Amino acid sequence: MTHLVYLSLGTNLGNKEENLRTAMTLIEEQVGTITSQSALYASTPWGFNSENTFLNNAISVETSLTPEELLSTTQRIEHTLGRTHKSVDGQYSDRLIDIDILLYDDVVMHTPSLTLPHPLMHRRLFVLEPLSEIAPTMIHPLLQKEITTLCNELKAEGTC
Ligand code: ADP
Ligand code: MG
Repeated sequence: MTHLVYLSLGTNLGNKEENLRTAMTLIEEQVGTITSQSALYASTPWGFNSENTFLNNAISVETSLTPEELLSTTQRIEHTLGRTHKSVDGQYSDRLIDIDILLYDDVVMHTPSLTLPHPLMHRRLFVLEPLSEIAPTMIHPLLQKEITTLCNELKAEGTC
C-alpha cells in the first residue's frame, strides 16, 4: 500500500542546488517515487541570524514506508549529506540539508519524535509557498483549510 507524503527540503550551505538535487536522488532511492516538485525558493534564515540564505522546495513522494520509517530514512539522508548540527534547545543553525515531513496522507499524530502534520508548516512562508505550488487544494487535516488559504492568511499577517 502506498502513501502520499509531502516533504519540505531546505539548505543554506555549500552548493545549495546540488544539495537539493542530491537529496532528491537519495529520496528516490530510499523513500519512493517523486511525483511532483516545486520550483526552488530563496528565503532568509528563520529563527536565527545567518548570512547564508536558504534555498527551499517542496516535493510529493509515493512511499510504502510507515511514518516512523520515513522519519528515520529522511534523517539518514540528512546525515549522508553531511549534516552534523542538530537544532538544540530550539536554536536553529546553518545546515546542508533539512528534510521535514509536512503531510503523510491525512494522518494526524503526535509522538516524542514525530508530529504530523508538521507543527510549524502553517507558520512558515518558505514551506507554504512551495507547497501551494504543488498541492494548492490539499486540505490541512488538522486546520481543515486548503494550503493556498493558509499561505494567503500568513501573507496577510505580514509577520513572516
Ligand atoms: P528543524 O527541522 O525544526 O529545524 P530538526 O530538523 O533538527 O529541526 O528536527 C528536530 C526534530 O523534529 C527531529 O529530531 C524530529 O524527531 C522532530 N520532528 C517532529 N516532527 C517532525 C516532522 N513532521 N518532520 C521532521 N522532523 C520532525
Ligand atoms: Mg527538520
